[in-house]
Formats: sequence, structure tokens, C-alpha cells
Amino acid sequence: SYLSFCCLILVFCACSPEEKLSPMDQQVQELLAQMTVEEKLGQLSQRHVNNATAESELRVEDVLEDIRAGRVGSVLNQFNHFFTLEERNLMQKVAVEESRLGIPIIFAHDVIHGYETAFPINLAQSCTWSEEMVEKAAQLAGKEAAMAGVDWTFAPMVDISRDPRWGRISECFGEDPFLNGRFGAATVRGFQGQDLADPYTIAACMKHFVGYGAGLGGRDYQEVEISDRTLNEIYLPPFKACLDAGVVTAMSGFQDINGHPATGNQRLFRNLLKEQWAFDGFVVSDWEAVAQLATHGYAKDSTVAAEKALTAGIDMEMKTLCYRDLGEAFKRGALSEELLDEAVGRILKVKLQLGLFDQPFVEEQPENKKSVHQEAQVVARQMAAASMVLLQNKQGILPLQQDQLRQIAVVGPFAKEQNLMGWWKSVADPEAVTSPLEGMRRNAPQGVIISDRLTATTDVIILCVGEEWTTFGEAHSRSDIKLPGQQEELIRQMSQYGKPVITVVFNGRPLDLSGVLPHTDGLLLAWHPGTTAGDALSDVLWGKYNPAGKLTTSFPKSVGQLPVYYNHKNSGRPTQNNYIDEDADPLFPFGFGLSYTSFDYANLKIDQTTLSEGETINISVEVHNTGAYDGHEVVQLYSRNMVGSTTRPVKELKDFKRIFLKAGEKRLVKFSLSAEDIKVLNERFEAVLEAGLLKVWLGPNSAEGLEATVRIQ
Ligand code: BGC
Repeated sequence: SYLSFCCLILVFCACSPEEKLSPMDQQVQELLAQMTVEEKLGQLSQRHVNNATAESELRVEDVLEDIRAGRVGSVLNQFNHFFTLEERNLMQKVAVEESRLGIPIIFAHDVIHGYETAFPINLAQSCTWSEEMVEKAAQLAGKEAAMAGVDWTFAPMVDISRDPRWGRISECFGEDPFLNGRFGAATVRGFQGQDLADPYTIAACMKHFVGYGAGLGGRDYQEVEISDRTLNEIYLPPFKACLDAGVVTAMSGFQDINGHPATGNQRLFRNLLKEQWAFDGFVVSDWEAVAQLATHGYAKDSTVAAEKALTAGIDMEMKTLCYRDLGEAFKRGALSEELLDEAVGRILKVKLQLGLFDQPFVEEQPENKKSVHQEAQVVARQMAAASMVLLQNKQGILPLQQDQLRQIAVVGPFAKEQNLMGWWKSVADPEAVTSPLEGMRRNAPQGVIISDRLTATTDVIILCVGEEWTTFGEAHSRSDIKLPGQQEELIRQMSQYGKPVITVVFNGRPLDLSGVLPHTDGLLLAWHPGTTAGDALSDVLWGKYNPAGKLTTSFPKSVGQLPVYYNHKNSGRPTQNNYIDEDADPLFPFGFGLSYTSFDYANLKIDQTTLSEGETINISVEVHNTGAYDGHEVVQLYSRNMVGSTTRPVKELKDFKRIFLKAGEKRLVKFSLSAEDIKVLNERFEAVLEAGLLKVWLGPNSAEGLEATVRIQ
């Protein structure tokens, strides 16, 4: 009959979603069906456990009872400590053997740019313009961490920052959305590998969704005002790139964005990330950020804060225990249990993907540990050298010439510094870092004396200056971005000594170096290069590694110029929008960096003069190493839509290639640019091809390059 036919259809419709469930989703459903509301809330809870420091912290023994009762889903250990394997496995044993359902804990730790081996800070990593190196560094850091019992890291941070006063600019990959996307994705691939269940991979976390890097005045935790267009064009694309690379977790930002704190922002998490982008991993709040919804004045108390955060789509609560208060509301039916199941399901799925149910424990592996550590040291040294940016090289003072030098003084406040590992040094030991002086000594060619003081017999001065690790990082913004203290004065005095001065800057943010430039022959940015600092420095100064690093942030002429970034708009009066006391150009533009050799660009060719929907154009340029040294060059492709339904940036990075040319070698470097690449967002934020002129440039940085024109039709 018609009725039974309808019933059949109904039964079919009701069953089909079940039938389509993957075995993993099926497992999640089975677990959910057995869980009490308390156990579900337990999965959403991430506790901070710290055995190494303050007594006020929760210690391993303090958390065991909660774990046994199913009240803990994840354990975090922040900053420069992690657990011993014994401690980690003890907590896990209680979870899997003594809790009712035996659900394993996911252990988290900030592996930001290394674990035992500190690689260069992330901002420095981006200056390599090498996705291969960035991926490799994440892979090795992940391996070191996985062997120590870490399952999950809170990286990559792909918060675009246009303000070097912000202390956390050191953690991102610079000011450009395309680059943050490329390096964010490379980091995700490095940590997560091909298979999350591989015991040497860890889960990645893209953070801090979204806009945290745009805090007003460069202050940390400060509110941000971002238009929907800027959000879509600048701040969101790097996150989308991480998502496309398969990232399984995301973290919410601390900040208020356009009047709604990120951690309670339904539009960003529920609607955009989870529904529109179909992200199927889970979201963790930042540290105490759920409770802070009350401090923002966005919730009257911690219970409302919890309700708002969970409704917004924040699945796991870091550190605070506001979600626990929701038990009653779920039981009364005031909150729908579906909301809870959705969050718990996402977390359980990542635990399953990580293989934690099958292999909850981590064993000591001294042999593997040793070989990974050795490989990490080699890669870290290459990467540190590749991330250094040569900004000035008067009279070719660098590389140092062995046959012309008898004595080199390595001096300055950073000459003997070992704490050159940035803010998040994880468990890396400063004692294991090669200081600049030690590195220069250890690697000096025979017959050259490396001294820690100036004498009449000094031939050249290597002056090591910079920012201590405590002057950048979280909650460490600066209002002045010159070298701290009296260091500029020191450089001026050294320049009076009558010997060539090579200034090496160990920094964590873009600095105003306008007061340094006139007083130094050589200027090398070394950033915080990590464990192999001194060795890598020596490789660069002696020319064993020809520097090829290029800036991924503009370097301003003064703090008053901020924000200064290459992909700005043109304005209606582009020649009159300077300050009366300063122009608007940065001291060093985005993409800039010198080499010991020189590269010429010639014969820009484009294979068609028009570009339509579905088409791709090929663009090539001849790059010639015209100098005396072999070296890498980063060839950069920029474009500009000259006209559009909305105004476009004066330049946008579209692609780059890092090539190696022997001295005298010439190479045709080829790029392709598709209609997709140059689409713009219309009023509804859909990507569309808009007719008009397109300029393209191939060049060595954002301010120079050969130009061609294409008609978009
Ligand atoms: C930071 C996060 C970090 C978290 C856990 C917070 O203070 O903002 O980036 O992952 O702490 O350590």
C-alpha cells in the first residue's frame, strides 16, 4: 500500500545515515551511547598538570582521581616542561584501566619550533622561503615530542601580524596571507605526516582562530576591529590552507573581534569553520579563555560563559572548569545533549585517529631518540643559516676572507648568549646552545684568532646585539622597536674604532634598524636561531652558507610608521599620503634579503596577453648568478588587479621559487598563474574573475622586479 511504501522510505531515510558511518564514526557513536553527561563533559575538559614548578599548580597525583572518574579528556603541560614518560603513562594507565569507559587521554604540549632541539623561531623559519625545510623541522620536532609522550601540539600559529610591537609576531610566518598559508600547511604536514596513528606523528592545531594578531596598538589580548573583507582576504586564508592540509584541531583566540570575543563567537566557529568549511576536527579554547568571556563582559558568570563557548563551537575547554557547570542544564534539557555529543564526538574521533585507543602508552626508545636528535641538529643548523637575512654588506665585507684576517673580535651583549631559542623553547636546554662566540671559535679556519675582546690587532669586529627572549613572546609587546637599551649607542661607538664592523642582530620581531644602518659595514639578522645558533652563524659569516633569507615582514623606519606592510591599498592620492616628517616606505621591504653573490633578472616572458575563466598563463624570467659565489635566490611572483569592484592591494604575492645557481649560471625560472589565482571576492565574498588589467612582476623582493601586463577578460 501507499502507507507501507512511505514507511519503508522513512525507515530507509532514518537508517541511511547510520549505514554510511565510517567504522571510526561508528565507534564514536557506540562510545557516546554509553557515556553519562558527566563523562561527556569530562572529555571536554583539558587540565593543566605541572610537576616541575610552582606548588600552586595541579600535580600528577592531584589529577588521578579526576581521571579515574572520567572527568578529564586531555592533559596539558605548558611551556618549558613536559612529563617524564613514567608520569605520562601513569595518568594514561588510570584513564584506560581504571576509568569506567577506558577512554585515553590526549596529552598536549606547545611544540612551537622544536622540542629538545630548538629550531629557529617561526618568523625566522618563514625567511627561508622553503616549505621543505619548514615541513622537515616540524616533522623532527614532532618525532622528538612523540617519543617523549606528546600526542598533540598547539602549532602552527598562522595569525597574520602587521605590527611588530606585538610580542607574538615571532610565532607567525610574517605579514603575508599566502606565505602563512604555505608554511602553516607545511607545518601541519610535518607534524601530522601521512598517518596520525604513526607513533612518530602528533596532531597539529591551527591557532588562534581568528584575528588575534591584529590587536590594537600591537598590544597582546587587545580588541581587534577587522572588516569582513579584510578578514576574508587577509586573516582567514592561512587557516583555510591549514584545513586543506588536514589539520585536526583548531584553537580559539583570546581577543574580542568586532564586539564578540573569539571564544564565544558562533559566527566564526559554528557557522564558518564547522559548517561552511566543514572542519571535522575539534576546537580547543585558548588558556582560560572560556572563563574570560565573563571578564570581557560577554557573560555574566562562568556558567553563561561555558554555555556561550560551547554553543559557539568551542569543543574543549583549556585549563578552567566552566564546562563542568553545564551538567545540570543538560540533564534538565535546558541545553540539548546533541550539542554536547557533537563536541565529544569530535574529540573522540581525533583520539581514535591518533591510535590512542590501541596504543595509549609510550615506551622509552633511547636509540631512536638519539638518531632523531642527531638528524634534528643537522637540519636545525641548515635551517638557522638559511633563515638569516643579510641586510647590508658594504664593500663586500662578508663573507669573511680567511687569507686577509688574523684576528676577529666577537663582542657585544649577545656574544656569549646561549638563550637564543625564542619564547617557546619547550624542553630544549639553553646550556646545549652554541653561543655566537663559541660557534665562531669552534669553526674558525686555522690561523685565525677569535677573541672576545677588542685589541689593536683586531682586523674585524663581529658585534652581537639583539633582543633577549624575555622581550618578545606572549604578553611581551614593546612600544619601542629599536634595539633595547644602549645597543645603538654601542654600535655607533664601535664604528669609531677604525675597523670594519659587522653587526649581527638576534631578534624576535622586526626592528627599527634605521639608527644602526649608517654605522655598520655588515648587517645580518640572525633572529633567535635555536640550538645551533653559533655554528649556523659561523657558516654564514665564513660563506660556507651563502645567505639567502628574505624578509617576510616589512622592516619600518620608525615605530610611528606602523602598521607598514607591502600589500596595502593605493589610495586616491598615493604620492601625498606620507607623513610630513617621513615617507611611508619601510626601511627594508617585504621579500628583501641580500646574498654574497648577485642575481640579474632579464627577459620576462608571458605566453599570452589575455586571461579568461579556466585559463592559465605561463610566465618566465631568466635569472643569472652574476657574482662570484654559488647561492640560492628566492624568485617572487606578484600581481595587481588594476581595477575591480573593490579596491585591490598594490601588490599581492602569488607564488615563489627558491632556486640554486652556481656562480655564472643562468636559469629560466617558470611560473604559471591561473584565473583562480587572481580572482577577487565580490560583495558576497564569492571568488570571481573581474575584467581589467592585471600587472605581474617577477623579482627579488616586493619593491623590485620586471613587469608585464595581461588583460583579464
Ligand atoms: C597561548 C597559546 C598556547 C596556550 C597553551 C596560551 O597562553 O596563547 O598559544 O598554546 O597558552 O600553552
